[in-house]
Amino acid sequence: MRIGYGYDIHQLVENRKLILGGVEIPCSLGLLGHSDADVLLHAISDGLLGAAGLGDIGEYFPDTDPKYKNSDSAELLGIVHQKIQAAGYVIINLDCTIFCQIIKINPVKLEIKKNISRILGIDIQAVNIKAKTMENLDAIGQNKAIAAACVVLIQK
Ligand code: ZN
Repeated sequence: MRIGYGYDIHQLVENRKLILGGVEIPCSLGLLGHSDADVLLHAISDGLLGAAGLGDIGEYFPDTDPKYKNSDSAELLGIVHQKIQAAGYVIINLDCTIFCQIIKINPVKLEIKKNISRILGIDIQAVNIKAKTMENLDAIGQNKAIAAACVVLIQK
């Protein structure tokens, strides 16, 4: 068994969609990034790569590569999943935290869990999503960013 950890943060800006865990969420601001800026799927991707000792998503999908402009992070996570499967691993479980002030995560939590379990082909019980506000402190608390962290366990 191996453990992995992933963390990501993106800036909130106008005229962008807010996509978390592959789910589009109604919001006045969205996340800025080269891809669709899905901070949660990026954290999960990094957690999986970290667990398998395969580096990080920046190595596989550089934000300087026009090929990945506005790319669907669910597809990138699918590619990452194939890499860890090719290395002989299966996912045991994921535990994720979304750090977000601007919207309530609770009403969309189940949909996000379902979507991640579908993308990774794992049981919904293997995906846990938690949410934290930042008590109106720091950049996240001031609605300037959303961050996500993920711990993942994989087994050979
Ligand atoms: Zn990212």
